[in-house]
Amino acid sequence: MPVLSEAASTPGTPTPDTSAVVDLGPASALSCRECGERFPLAPAFACTSCFGPLEAAYDLPLGDPEGLRRRIEAGPASIWRYAPLLPVPADVADKPNLAPGWTQLVKADRLAAELGVTGGLYVKDDSGNPTHSFKDRVVANAVEAARAFGFTTLSCSSTGNLAGAVGAAAARAGLRSCVFIPHDLEQGKVVMAAVYGGDVVGIEGTYDDVNRFCSELIGDPAGEGWGFVNVNLRPYYAEGSKTLAYEICEQLGWRLPDQLVVPIASGSQLTKIDKGLRELIATGLVEEKPYKIFGAQAAGCSPVSQAFKAGHEVVRPVRPDTIAKSLAIGNPADGPYVLDIARRTGGAVEDVSDPEIVDAIKLLARTEGIFAETAGGVTVGVTRKLIEAGALDPSLTTVVLNTGDGLKTLDAVAPTTGPTAIIRPNLDSFREAGLAS
Ligand SMILES: *Cc1c(COP(=O)(O)O)cnc(C)c1O
Ligand SMILES: [Zn+2]
Repeated sequence: MPVLSEAASTPGTPTPDTSAVVDLGPASALSCRECGERFPLAPAFACTSCFGPLEAAYDLPLGDPEGLRRRIEAGPASIWRYAPLLPVPADVADKPNLAPGWTQLVKADRLAAELGVTGGLYVKDDSGNPTHSFKDRVVANAVEAARAFGFTTLSCSSTGNLAGAVGAAAARAGLRSCVFIPHDLEQGKVVMAAVYGGDVVGIEGTYDDVNRFCSELIGDPAGEGWGFVNVNLRPYYAEGSKTLAYEICEQLGWRLPDQLVVPIASGSQLTKIDKGLRELIATGLVEEKPYKIFGAQAAGCSPVSQAFKAGHEVVRPVRPDTIAKSLAIGNPADGPYVLDIARRTGGAVEDVSDPEIVDAIKLLARTEGIFAETAGGVTVGVTRKLIEAGALDPSLTTVVLNTGDGLKTLDAVAPTTGPTAIIRPNLDSFREAGLAS
């Protein structure tokens, strides 16, 4: 749960950043998810009345769905086509930013055949983003909030992908960056975080320790003027995940899918995908019909899945131990909301073991030519498990998210993947290897 801290410019505190001067497009206020109280737009993340998380509230463009749809379709091939539904200024596409999104929705017929899905199976492949994970979507939104509130340093606590996304986005926007990661992350993610020239700090501890440290830093003069994309800018950052919902529906021909399988780290992405789908219905961009959202975790870090199966409404923190490091958050802030959404929509939350994750990465690569990071192995593995258990209906249109690139988690598959043969450069040697046609 985000903790309120003094320097986070809590709502009600007079700051130079009042909503009167902050232009974040259709976002008009922050509202508390728990008690509904409203606050002016500010770098704040917890309600002063009840400590509930704050989220962006909008004046949504209602009443002219045809006009809105035309405007979106005429927009750029990035998340900025949805600027009328995001907390960003109208001219966002003209500013220096990574313009993420509009990634491929792959019709995965060969994977569908293997899994027995007959109703249409799609993979939303977010490895195609500028830093090769879905995190570019959320960071791009946080950067606009950082600019609006006058922050000059961009920061975050990260399980890996976020650090790279922040480093790159800060470089493009001309901001300083200083990011915090667990010291034992995959090399690909550490190098990716550092290559953009910002500061990278490895912390001896788990992601949850890193996150706690960042909350302390926000309350200290050492962190003054810093925008932590997933802490004091969280309400704006989180909205970026809605674009996954928008894109999936637009790419399906402005239609809701029947089922989605979404990975869970903090649970923010899943929660905002649901919010995005509901906004599409509210604005009339899609026709209302039931949809089910399924959450996916690694067994080695499955606090939400365990709570779902036990019928609990709260999530008991765990200590992560899994190869799916990008999802290794033991104390997921949005866990209770994920439970609500899975139950309300008729979905479920399931988890798969590390060997099942590796198998699923290879299955997706072999059938669709998509090399997913471990988080993609988690969603594909969970999809397979849910179908086998009869929890996911194979006769319905299903979208599975791949949120990151396999090149960042080579260690997961390297021990069991390599050359078929090593031969001398002659035909005899080739024939001996048994590979001739
Ligand atoms: C961060 C991340 C997620 C989801 O994170 P949430 O905290 O649940 O929003 C999913 N996949 C990858 C690869 C990530 O890096
Ligand atoms: Zn509240």
